[in-house]
Amino acid sequence: VPKVVLVGHEDRIPVSDVMNLFFGSCRISGNAVIAGDSEEPVILSERNGTDICTSYRSTSGDRRWCSGPDRLVPKREVKRQLYQALSELTGRRFPWGSLTGIRPTLMAAECDYDPEQLRDRFYVSAPKAIIAAETARNEKRLLDDIPQDSVHLYIGIPFCSTRCEYCSFPMAEYGKMTAILPAYIDALIRELDFFVPSFAGRIASVYVGGGTPTGLPTELFTRLMHGIERALGGQRIGERTVEAGRPDSITGRNLQEMREAGFDRICINPQTFHQRTLDRIGRRHSPEAIYEAVYAARDAGFATINMDLIAGLQGETTDDFRFSLAETIRLSPENITVHSLSLKRTSDLKRHLAADMDADVHEAFDRLGPDIADMLAYSHPTLAENGYKPYYMYRQKDTLGGHENIGYTTPGHACVYNTAMMGDRHTVFGAGAKAMSKRVIPSTEGYRIERFPNKADIRAYLADQEEHFRKKRAFLDGLV
Ligand code: SF4
Repeated sequence: VPKVVLVGHEDRIPVSDVMNLFFGSCRISGNAVIAGDSEEPVILSERNGTDICTSYRSTSGDRRWCSGPDRLVPKREVKRQLYQALSELTGRRFPWGSLTGIRPTLMAAECDYDPEQLRDRFYVSAPKAIIAAETARNEKRLLDDIPQDSVHLYIGIPFCSTRCEYCSFPMAEYGKMTAILPAYIDALIRELDFFVPSFAGRIASVYVGGGTPTGLPTELFTRLMHGIERALGGQRIGERTVEAGRPDSITGRNLQEMREAGFDRICINPQTFHQRTLDRIGRRHSPEAIYEAVYAARDAGFATINMDLIAGLQGETTDDFRFSLAETIRLSPENITVHSLSLKRTSDLKRHLAADMDADVHEAFDRLGPDIADMLAYSHPTLAENGYKPYYMYRQKDTLGGHENIGYTTPGHACVYNTAMMGDRHTVFGAGAKAMSKRVIPSTEGYRIERFPNKADIRAYLADQEEHFRKKRAFLDGLV
């Protein structure tokens, strides 16, 4: 496992990103980035002005790469050369090449939506380059249609009945939070009441996300829906979505409450249609519950249903995934989101794996998801044949094999909230614990984003709301 020594530059983070890609973890020590104990061979990453070279010595001869006429900006050139060196040393290549960021579509836009440029500049594989360019074009068309001064409202309910094995998101399980839930819903509504009137006429989308919002006790879910309706004060809003999440949290009563509050989009996220996998990941429902939830949502009048699947769930083969995709398509949701399994740091999945795996993402990948690439390669053309187009895409750290998550839609059903959230060109107001707000500031280079996080801890969020409101108001008004 090599050590990279930086000479004439301090791009430790870009170098660490590439080292993480290949070795799963690394550490910075002075001007070196090290991924393991052996520290051999030593790779030199040298910069002199805009000239960058990467080299190492080996028993089979010296190897050296230097920037030529097609050089990228320095940080990217450093990464590109290091990617070449490590590919040669390890024999490994990654589907997104030297791209380590979470938004490949931004790079596709910079490359004029040209897959060839993505391949030449970053060594992105041909299939990924094509899908990135297609997704970026669709995303741009949608983003251009969203009014620049619009505001997108996120309302966070960060609770679930249990935590799925692969998930690191929910901060609390409903069962352990019973006493505090009423205070949380009241605080959330207070936050909406305080801020939402100031966005009057500008709110283009409302997204109630989780966790599993529909897992709230009936009385609190009703209180939440009424609170949202009252805060919005009858404003005409183009899109209202509830991310219900787990099928077994959906009831006739909460579907009706959502519809009465003006919500006509719902996310029902099965992840898989196999009982043994549902059991393994900690879901407490049957595949039948998925069909029932979708039929019930349709009966209740939801015009857009999104369904999430995960490629690479432990123990699943490509055929298993194909079956889940086929069943999802058979239910005709307007949106399908295909995720790649991530080995999230705080997930039970990661904890369940042997400690020695921490240093080697490839071992985890080999054990957990050898078929992810096949699953994704199958899903894209299959969804295209069934009328679904990709419209947003993101990557997560720790995704096995370095793959991506893609949101697909049928015509006219793309989620404005997701598009705006991913696009980083519109203001997002996040209410609730851990919710993030984004203020977009046009700049000479396009747009600059400033973020304001709500307190992540539930009790901290509940405490001292007035002080929190004061700071957030100042942020939204551009005073801090
Ligand atoms: S339902 Fe969703 S948010 Fe909740 S634990 Fe499972 S994956 Fe995570």
